[in-house]
Amino acid sequence: MSVLRESLDAAFRTAGLRPTAQRYAVLEFLARRPRHATAEEIFHAVNRADPRASRATVYNSLRALAGVGLAREVASEGGAARFEAGLQPHHHFLCDQCGSLEDVPWFELPAGTGAASLGGRAIRGYEIVFRGTCANCEK
Ligand SMILES: [Zn+2]
Ligand SMILES: [Zn+2]
Repeated sequence: MSVLRESLDAAFRTAGLRPTAQRYAVLEFLARRPRHATAEEIFHAVNRADPRASRATVYNSLRALAGVGLAREVASEGGAARFEAGLQPHHHFLCDQCGSLEDVPWFELPAGTGAASLGGRAIRGYEIVFRGTCANCEK
């Protein structure tokens, strides 16, 4: 059994979501792919591997995964929604020039940051979207 397969199995168990073949294929694609994918791209990739996978099944799988946090939608600034595996927490950087969306390694904010502004809300998590010019465009 591959390391990826084991960690995906564990993720499904922890999330309490039944790993159907389609959900598995969607999460595996997201976990393997370094970039953030649109629902259309995910559908085409999963459908190429298994032609029985319909658009509706793939979209439903994506929604089920997102519902338990195994997949998540990332900031996409008006374009089509983009998704990624929610297995590893990280922040994002969005380039104003070329629109590329990059992962930034995770770091914690000091405990209690923003507490006064958040009022009575119960916070489950957070992520930061940095904006500016990426290293490529900056050259
Ligand atoms: Zn750029
Ligand atoms: Zn990301």
